[in-house]
This record gives sequence, structure tokens and C-alpha cells, in this order.
Amino acid sequence: MISDAIINSVKNISSLDVLKIREDFPILKQLIHGKPLVYLDNAATTQKPKFVIDKEREYYEVQNSNIHRGVHLLSQKATMEYEKAREKVMRFINAKYLSEVIFTKGTTDGINLIASSFGEKFINADDEIIISHLEHHSNIVPWQLLCQRKNAKLKVIPINDNGEIIFEEFEKLISEKTKFISIVHASNSLGTINPIKDIINKAHQYNIPVLIDAAQSVQHYKIDVKELDCDFLVFSGHKLYAPTGIGILYGKEKLLEELPPYQGGGDMISSVTFEKTTYNELPYKFEAGTPNISGGICLGAAIDYINSIGIKSIEEYEKELSDYAELRLKEIEKLTPIGTAKNKGAVFSFILDGVHPHDIGTILDFEGIAIRTGHHCTQPIMDRFKIPATARASLAFYNTKDEIDFLASSIKKVFEVFA
Ligand code: PMP
Repeated sequence: MISDAIINSVKNISSLDVLKIREDFPILKQLIHGKPLVYLDNAATTQKPKFVIDKEREYYEVQNSNIHRGVHLLSQKATMEYEKAREKVMRFINAKYLSEVIFTKGTTDGINLIASSFGEKFINADDEIIISHLEHHSNIVPWQLLCQRKNAKLKVIPINDNGEIIFEEFEKLISEKTKFISIVHASNSLGTINPIKDIINKAHQYNIPVLIDAAQSVQHYKIDVKELDCDFLVFSGHKLYAPTGIGILYGKEKLLEELPPYQGGGDMISSVTFEKTTYNELPYKFEAGTPNISGGICLGAAIDYINSIGIKSIEEYEKELSDYAELRLKEIEKLTPIGTAKNKGAVFSFILDGVHPHDIGTILDFEGIAIRTGHHCTQPIMDRFKIPATARASLAFYNTKDEIDFLASSIKKVFEVFA
């Protein structure tokens, strides 16, 4: 049993003014089943600050127009705002050029784009693509589809019982047949943070390009694509306090130049005749059709909001909150954590003796607590741990230690209901 003195000493330190920050998120003031909402499903999607919501309203009230093609003032204004957002993303991830920042629908879209385009040009029969056992389905299925099309092979880096990739096994998988590596930075179901810098360094010794799935990391840690030296990186706006339907694919300019377009249509062309089409320059070559204009602008606004707090401060506070959650969950008998990596983010997957995860989720919902239950789109991880599902609490910087206390006491209540 952990003493109250230890819990209080941890609880009383706070590096962020969270109560003030919570005022920025209108949804958090809601009651759910008559109880204050405790939103702990941030790995699925994050809530939106009023600053972002207002930006969307403002866009539709005073700027709405199609971009890039209009000579009228509204179109020029919308184009300018959209391109300004691209610049904000470029600075946020420290990309070298604007041409390296491609707007997508989200992480899934970005991975499909690369699997399709890179796969089309560079993957041939008997080639191998490496992923890990920690991947979300969206970083498995596009590669399987590619392998089926090209008669190539998918190789999977195994994980240990803590949910960490086994680096020596990764090294053993690399051969002259390896043509691409696609790997998650932080696991959405176990919280494991992969040693992506080491993976990239190793891959580059063999000239193998690497894609990083940053869906669960870009909102928590400073990402510097130049320092990482990753070839591609993808993420979703909706997990970064922006709306759904917008995301980013970063790619090194030299590589993107070499890739064929993913989709054809307006905006991605430079000239079209029935005989021949020439393509637009980067990044537009990969942005066919009218994009999610307000989504892009709001992603820029979300980045402004995050910058106003500081990603380093967010990281620091979330670490503090995670340490506290770990301490509180450890106290609960008959709770088994799934995913106990040494390097782990603010995601807590667990099972309770004798209670199905869906029942945990339902009982907690009646307390106003939103967690996620199921396989979290990572069925191979569930298979690895021989379980059908977990309950998962995932944190963001607007969560408080009081909410963690309430989660812990409500989990204890779950046992009472089942007693
Ligand atoms: N990868 C990871 C690690 C994720 O957590 C998610 C979303 N849960 C995705 C990919 C897919 O993201 P999206 O559904 O926004 O495309």
C-alpha cells in the first residue's frame, strides 16, 4: 500500500495551471449522467479549445471560399490562411521546406498515400517491408494490401512481455530485401514509446527509408523531423486539438519529388490534355481535389494554441500526471496493467479480474468517466497478450490529479458492483 503522505507529496506539485487551461475547453464543463465529465479517451480523439472552435466559425462566417484558383478577395484570403497554416505545421515539426508538408485527411490517409505511391514505384516481388507488433491497424493493412499487389512480404518486429519491441530481433529482420520500414512512435493501446531515433539510424545504415506514425506522439512531445532524420512522418489533427478530417504527411522533399501522385484530380496538375498530364509542384502534387480548408486553418489554430502553452510544458505536466496515475492504479488489487514498458506515455491499458472491459467502460460511464474499451484497432497486440480487449484511460494536459483519484475510486466501485 502506498502511503497517503507519498500520494499527497506527488499530488501537490503541478507545473501547469490546469484549472485555467480547462476554462479553454467548453465541453469539459458538461455533466454526463449528472456527473462532471472526466474525459480520459484522449488517445481516440482530443477535445477542442474554444480558440479552435471560434476559428472554424470565423472561417465559415467571413472567409469561406475555395482556395488556390480564385482571383476574388475571399478566395485569396482563404488561400492565404490555409497556406499560413501549412507554415505553422512546418515550424511545429521543424521541416526544412513548405513543400514537405502535405495536408491529408489524417494518419490513415497519410500511410495509405505512402504505401500506394512509394509501393507503386519502389516495391517489387520478394521485397520486404518491416513493421512492428505494436502497430495500429492503419499501419498494418495498407502494407498488407501493397504486399498482396506486389507479391512482397511483411515482416514484423516482435515485442516482449512489457510491450517493448525487441531491438535485436529488428536488426535480424533487416536484409538486402528490406525496402521500407513503417513504425509507430507511441503505441495507442500500450503507451510504449519506441526508440525511433535508433530505428531510423539503423535503417539508414542500409539506405532504407522510414515512416514514423506520430498519431500518438506529436501532441505529447516535441517532434523535430530534421533531428530525427525520418523520411516520412504522419499524424492526425483531431488528436492534436484540431477538428477531424485533417492530418499531415511530412516527407523529405527529395523523396516526395521521386514519388508518383496518389490521386488524380484538380489542383494536383500543372496541365492536362487528353494525351498527357503534367503534375503540379510539391506539395500540391499530393493534394488532389478541394481540401478540408477550414480543417487546415483550424490545425494551424490548434498549433498556435499549443504553442501558447508550450509543448515542453505539456510534456512535463503530462509526465507528472502519468506518474501519479501509475501510482494510483498500482494500488488497486486485481488490476493488471497491459503494457509496462520502461519508456511509456500517458496511456493506461488494464484488465480487472473477473470483469469484462466493456462492463468497466459502462460502469465508469455512469460515473461520468469516458474511457475506451476494446482492441483499440490493435488486434495483434491483444492476441500477443492473449486477451480480447482492455480498458484504456489516456490522458491529456487538461486532465487533473483529482480526475485520476476519481478514476481510481470508481474502478474500485466496479468491483463492488460485481461483488
Ligand atoms: N496510428 C495510431 C498509433 C493511432 O492511435 C491512430 C488512431 N487511433 C491511427 C494510427 C489512425 O488515426 P486516424 O484514425 O486519425 O487516421
